[in-house]
Amino acid sequence: MNELLGRVFNFEKQVFANESALYNSLASEGQSPKALMISCADSRIVPEHIVQARPGDLFVCRNAGNIVPPHATQNGGVTSTVEYAVMVLGVRDIIVCGHSDCGAMKALSTEADLTSMPNVAAWLRHSRAAQQVCRQSYTDDLSDAEKLRNMALENVVAQLAHLRTHPSVASGIATGDIALHGWYVDIHAGQVLGLDGETGRFLPMREDQPMPIALPHARRLAGEGQYAIAAE
Ligand code: ZN
Repeated sequence: MNELLGRVFNFEKQVFANESALYNSLASEGQSPKALMISCADSRIVPEHIVQARPGDLFVCRNAGNIVPPHATQNGGVTSTVEYAVMVLGVRDIIVCGHSDCGAMKALSTEADLTSMPNVAAWLRHSRAAQQVCRQSYTDDLSDAEKLRNMALENVVAQLAHLRTHPSVASGIATGDIALHGWYVDIHAGQVLGLDGETGRFLPMREDQPMPIALPHARRLAGEGQYAIAAE
């Protein structure tokens, strides 16, 4: 721990000194991050590391299980962070990032007894839809590792659906200003998979292929369809 704390001095003397121009401009002009990433709190998943972000690049919200509570159920940290990122910072891309070997997903996948952790149990109820998809929609002959992986992938899908219940996000999606991304980081392989919204499947990110996107930027105003209301 002392080693970790000691690095603060190194930040002041070297890291900050080397980046002082960038920090000065961010301090005087404010931030304009390129995306909001909602990821797990797991220490092995470092959002800034994955996208090689510099200070100012990425607005990040981390919690156990990369969960986004549905808008109506909870006024909390994630809800406020999403609202601020969209309404004030004008973020155009929101990424929900799950990962392999996730402790929260393992608890759901194995239906672990969480009576000694009532807050964790309450938090993970936001992943019940994903849990039920895994329970009822996949075959029974899967290994524990496969079940855990499916749980993490379905959880990303479920949390993206919750994101769409947030009024600021729903409005941005309707006008084509916001795109949604679902990612899964395989810690063992060092690989990032992206959810392809058209097929509902996760695909590896390939440099020579278009990035898989859960919900691309596109105008979706229900009232702009072909159907015309007859004049009164
Ligand atoms: Zn995790």
